[in-house]
Amino acid sequence: MTTFDAAVIGGGPAGCLAATYLARGGLSVALIEKRSTPHHKVCGEFISGEGVPLLLDADVSLAQATHISGMRLHGPTRSCEAPLPTAARGLSRLLMDELLLEAAQNSGVKLIRGERAKTLKKADSVFHVGGIAARRVVCATGKAEFKPVQTRAGRDSGMVGFKVHLRLAAKALGCLRQHVDLFVFESGYGGLAPVEDGLANLCFLMEREAIANVQGEWPRVARWLSNACEGLAGYLDNAEPAFWPMASVANVPYGFVRETAVADDIYCVGDQLAVIPSLTGEGMTIAMQTGKRAAECILAGVGATEFQHDMAAVVRPRVELGFLVHRLFKSPRLSDLGTQLVNRWPRLIDYIFRHTRTPAV
Ligand SMILES: Cc1cc2nc3c(=O)[nH]c(=O)nc-3n(C[C@H](O)[C@H](O)[C@H](O)COP(=O)(O)OP(=O)(O)OC[C@H]3O[C@@H](n4cnc5c(N)ncnc54)[C@H](O)[C@@H]3O)c2cc1C
Repeated sequence: MTTFDAAVIGGGPAGCLAATYLARGGLSVALIEKRSTPHHKVCGEFISGEGVPLLLDADVSLAQATHISGMRLHGPTRSCEAPLPTAARGLSRLLMDELLLEAAQNSGVKLIRGERAKTLKKADSVFHVGGIAARRVVCATGKAEFKPVQTRAGRDSGMVGFKVHLRLAAKALGCLRQHVDLFVFESGYGGLAPVEDGLANLCFLMEREAIANVQGEWPRVARWLSNACEGLAGYLDNAEPAFWPMASVANVPYGFVRETAVADDIYCVGDQLAVIPSLTGEGMTIAMQTGKRAAECILAGVGATEFQHDMAAVVRPRVELGFLVHRLFKSPRLSDLGTQLVNRWPRLIDYIFRHTRTPAV
């Protein structure tokens, strides 16, 4: 049996970047991804300005991604608009995750697809992950728990995330152009962002107790969302879903930051390291930064204990501020007030954006 230098579990942004940089550094790498085919992931599909160079450096083409230069915030009855401090991009996870897997393979990574890692055992300094033997492990299973590493406890995991791609009416698509629209309603909040092929990605979070409102067929869901937030109504008028039912995810441990390493040769990255509230649009960038940094540490002989300690210090303040804004968004009246504050001081958006971005690590 071949013993790889490293096994990376999970082929999302974190796992793919870790695998790509390990292979570029000359190590033999196995990347294990449980899904055998492209699939929709619940995500706002907003790639922050800090994430763009990471994708390009990993040889992921952004040719099909849209450009996003401004944002609008819609409270239940009031709205505001501000430019983004750094230009962002919109690209579906259906496409982006495939491009990431392809980039990893092009770097020499052995991709094992359609296999779910369930166990992790160590004997004579070698890990066994299913049928794979490797000297080090990178855990990048994202939102999914990987039982052999400690489970994550977050705050406010009682929200359910939904996502659907929409074909907007021509006027609404023109209005969304180059913008991400965030909207807040009584039991949740979400975003509408342009992605490739003229589609718009509608992604939102709702309190578990309220999800009955968005069950059933699209016209009923669209009606409910339009009534819940005035700013969204114009976009949903005559919009058609590109797939149905919506993709959904529950139990996301928002606010989690892993403080200590599981072992000195197991590196936890991406959502396995920290889960920043979705509204910041920074989760994928943190995933890529920590994946890349884990690879650099492995190549430099730095153990997971030191990696974990350093990464926690970098991401903790961002996660905390993101969580504060998440709380604000959960109060519709406060978010209406927030829109008034932004209208008066547009630099407030600048401040929140800059302080929830992760500096290059
Ligand atoms: C509602 C919502 C909206 C969001 N919006 C945005 C946004 O607009 N912008 C942004 O930057 N971030 C956003 N995020 C956060 C972002 O989606 C995550 O932070 C990011 O996907 C984390 O990347 P990852 O590689 O750690 O995990 P993932 O992207 O979840 O990838 C993990 C991979 O591991 C695989 N896997 C899991 N278990 C196993 C196993 N046992 N064996 C093998 N493979 C396994 C999965 O199939 C998956 O492909 C949002 C999150 C939510 C919930």
